[in-house]
Amino acid sequence: MVNVIKQLVSQEVVNQRSYGKGNKIQYITPHQTGNMGIGANAQMHANLQSNLNSRQASWHYQVDDRMVIQSFEDDVMCWAAGDGRGPGNTASIHIEMCINADGDYEQTINNGAALVKMLMDKYGLDRSRIKQHHDWSGKNCPAQLRAGYKGITWEDFLNKVDGVQEEENFGSPSPGPNQPKPKPKPVENGNSIVDYLNAQGIDSSFKNRAILAKQYGMNNYQGTAAQNIALLEKIKKGVPKKPQIAPKANLNVDGKWGKSTTRALQKALGTPVDGIISNQPKNSVTNAFYDGTIHFASGKQGSPMVKALQRMIGANPDGFMGPHTVRALQIYLGTVVDGVLSRPSLVVKEMQRRLNAGTFVK
Ligand SMILES: [Zn+2]
Repeated sequence: MVNVIKQLVSQEVVNQRSYGKGNKIQYITPHQTGNMGIGANAQMHANLQSNLNSRQASWHYQVDDRMVIQSFEDDVMCWAAGDGRGPGNTASIHIEMCINADGDYEQTINNGAALVKMLMDKYGLDRSRIKQHHDWSGKNCPAQLRAGYKGITWEDFLNKVDGVQEEENFGSPSPGPNQPKPKPKPVENGNSIVDYLNAQGIDSSFKNRAILAKQYGMNNYQGTAAQNIALLEKIKKGVPKKPQIAPKANLNVDGKWGKSTTRALQKALGTPVDGIISNQPKNSVTNAFYDGTIHFASGKQGSPMVKALQRMIGANPDGFMGPHTVRALQIYLGTVVDGVLSRPSLVVKEMQRRLNAGTFVK
């Protein structure tokens, strides 16, 4: 993702330094600023435009090694191509890449390539639509790329555009020169998920793919072709996996279900943690709780935590604690099944023990 900071110029500047709206957006033209001065970075160029550039010139984006700043909306016809009302000025988005001496030149080029790629994708443009300022008016721009400055040619730039990976977060501050560069991605063999996993030395069995699918947020993985393609894509993109560590509680195993036990249960079930079981009816079970954790009310929706618990243990998810839920809990935990919550209670003790071990929720 390219992180674009918007610092749009005023309408007055749009009126005085562009042809206004109507850009046909058929091309993208990356430029280089021609200013090697210290501090001639994206922010300086954005400010120059915001404050009405003294030159009769304008461009949509400026990029340096740290950020991308947008000055004009894409649909404005900026004055950057030197071709009057020609396609350069009226049908292209223009990007100025900084060459300030205090910037990381190659990182700026990488950020520019990422921005070009993002715009190509956004507007459905192919590589042939990336133009040089030189193509529009014959000006020697982008001068450094055209000259292969620091070993990076125009062709190299186009290849960088092609090679932009979606997960690379260009437009963010780059690591300093002493920090290790990201490792190249392992080469994959074959297109199927099984080949891919095998090439990475990862268990490619159905069972493990099902585990991976769950970690990548896919429900009901059955190994269909569509699911395999989707899963492969997610794995390649490296969607962050959710931590698989169950929260562990530190409860007294006393069989008394009060606020701390409710809190631990809410944490384990992933429902809001407030220590309160809301909207409960009065019955033999709810009267056996401790510590004011039960809030009584009638005619309401029940408790979200109780619903989550009921779903997990296979009870009717109505949100109300009662003998049927205790019975299901007793079956789930393997204690005596009588639907009764004693004070204190064996089933609550077992639940507390498992909450402490992080093994209650399965
Ligand atoms: Zn130019």
